[in-house]
Formats: sequence, structure tokens, C-alpha cells
Amino acid sequence: MGKTYVCGYNHCLHKGEKVTEQDSIMVGKRRLHIDCAEVRDHIEIIKNLYFNYVESANYVEVVGVINNIIFKKGVNPRYMIFALKHIISKNVVIKSPYFLHYLPKNKIIIKLWEKENGVNK
Ligand SMILES: [Zn+2]
Repeated sequence: MGKTYVCGYNHCLHKGEKVTEQDSIMVGKRRLHIDCAEVRDHIEIIKNLYFNYVESANYVEVVGVINNIIFKKGVNPRYMIFALKHIISKNVVIKSPYFLHYLPKNKIIIKLWEKENGVNK
């Protein structure tokens, strides 16, 4: 067994399980599980999409809603990127970050997602 590390992601998907060097990736000065780094990247994309689109959004509030959807509700962050891009392409006005909760329930977007990605992905 090689050296193991504590994952540096504060929303670690492995509940503090240590990670080996070959199963991890460096993000800044921290070592993260590969899937944790992936989720982190996807959330950054969601945040960038949101903040570029919605003017004067409340950062803490928006991040709280995103974290809730991804980590509490277990929604695929790749779906959220897809759904948000769809909403933006339609020029839908987002008045509140709580609107994001509606995206995983939107039957039209779910259908489009399944068409592109297959069901259950
Ligand atoms: Zn982790």
C-alpha cells in the first residue's frame, strides 16, 4: 500500500475515506478523489453559467441552492449544466436561485437529456 491522503474536497463523496496517490488528482495544493474533483469542476461550471447569466445574484444563496441540489438531492451535476444551458438558450428569466430546484423536475429538459445521454445517466 502506498501513501494515502485525506481528500481536500469539503463535499467529499467518500465521507472522509482516504485516497491513494494513483486514485487522486491535485487541485491547487490539495489532493482530491478523481470523482470529487470532477463534481467540483462541474459545480464551477454551473456557478459560472449562473453568475454570467443572472445579474447581481447573491453568491452565498446561489451556492447554497446548488449544493443542496447536488449533495442533498443527488442530482447529476452534468444534468444541471445541461438544463441550465437549455434555460439560458431560451432566454428564460431567472428571478431567484430557487428556480434551479425546478430544473430536475422539468419534463421537457429531462426528455432532451435522455435523448442525448440515454436513460439513467
Ligand atoms: Zn473525496
